[in-house]
Order: sequence, then C-alpha cells, then structure tokens
Amino acid sequence: MGLPTPLNWPVLRQLRDGDALGRGRAVTSETTRSWTPRTSEADRVVQSVCPYCAVGCGQKIFVKDDKVVQIEGDPDSPHSRGRLCPKGSASEQLVNSPTRVTEVLYRRPGGTEWEKLDRETALEMIVDRFLDTRRRTWQEQDEKGRRLGRTMGIAALGGATLDNEENYLIKKLFTAAGAVQIENQARI
Ligand code: SF4
Repeated sequence: MGLPTPLNWPVLRQLRDGDALGRGRAVTSETTRSWTPRTSEADRVVQSVCPYCAVGCGQKIFVKDDKVVQIEGDPDSPHSRGRLCPKGSASEQLVNSPTRVTEVLYRRPGGTEWEKLDRETALEMIVDRFLDTRRRTWQEQDEKGRRLGRTMGIAALGGATLDNEENYLIKKLFTAAGAVQIENQARI
C-alpha cells in the first residue's frame, strides 16, 4: 500500500478519473483494488447441482489445486439461469466448513457419547435392522384373510435435498420391501 498523499483523496480522484458522482473506481480503497475474485484463481470449473433443495439449481464449482474455492450460479441452467438463493450461494461452506461432519457417528441405546463407525459397519447395521424389523412386523393377511403383503414397521421420510432420481429409487426400494408410509419433507 502506498504512502498516504492528498493526491489520493477521493474527491481529487473523482475529478481526475471523471467519476463525478463518486460511484466508481475513484472511491475504492487501495485494499479493495488489490482484491481479486476467488473465481479468477480457479484452475478449472465443474458444473453441478445445488444439493440443498429439490429446485436443483445449476452451479459452477470453481476448483483450485483439487479444492473447491467458490460456488456460483450456472447461467447455462435452463430453470435457475445463473441464480442461487442465499443457501445455495453459501454451499461452498458445506464443502469447506471445518465443522463439517465427515465420519459416521453412532450413539448406541443408552449411550451418552458418539462413537465413530466405519461405513461398512454402519451399512451392515442398517441392513440388519431393516430386515429384522420387516420380518417382525410383516403382515401377510388381515383378520378376514385378505392379502396385505406389507409392513407397518418401516417408513421413509426423505429430505428436501433429495433429487427426483433419488426419490424415485427410494420409492421403488421401500415399496418393494412392503413399506406403505413413504413421504418426503418437501411435500410436508
Ligand atoms: S437451496 Fe436455493 S440454490 Fe439450492 S437448489 Fe434450492 S433454491 Fe436453488
């Protein structure tokens, strides 16, 4: 940063730079002028979809040295046309936040602490419980002998971050397993 000089006073800069209303470059500080957008540092840009809600706005992910440095709206997206809501605009923090949870945490019944689990173990536990619940709560017929072929012990409640394809697969899986209560947060 250069030494302060009266020649750098904003009013003089306004006159010198032809910025009579003081709304342009004349009123920016040297610090501001030294800043560059994070997008200009990226070495590649990847198109993606905002994961936060079912609108699915298009995003441009700016990457530098294999790290996400900024996320902007994608003007090529036919429905969001470059726009992101405040949540989507902040999704860089979803990726880079130091408080982001990146491990499976489990609190066993009666437990007071979270335990770390590897993914394989966690998936096996979910499958075991799913199958056991289905077995225990299966209803083949009602009291009049009419076929039911269902379980009322399993329900699905999807989050708004699920997209159409994920909801389609969840609906298929749970219906095939005999679940009846299949819902999504976006509808509630
Ligand atoms: S959270 Fe916002 S930016 Fe993301 S998909 Fe939904 S509306 Fe679009």
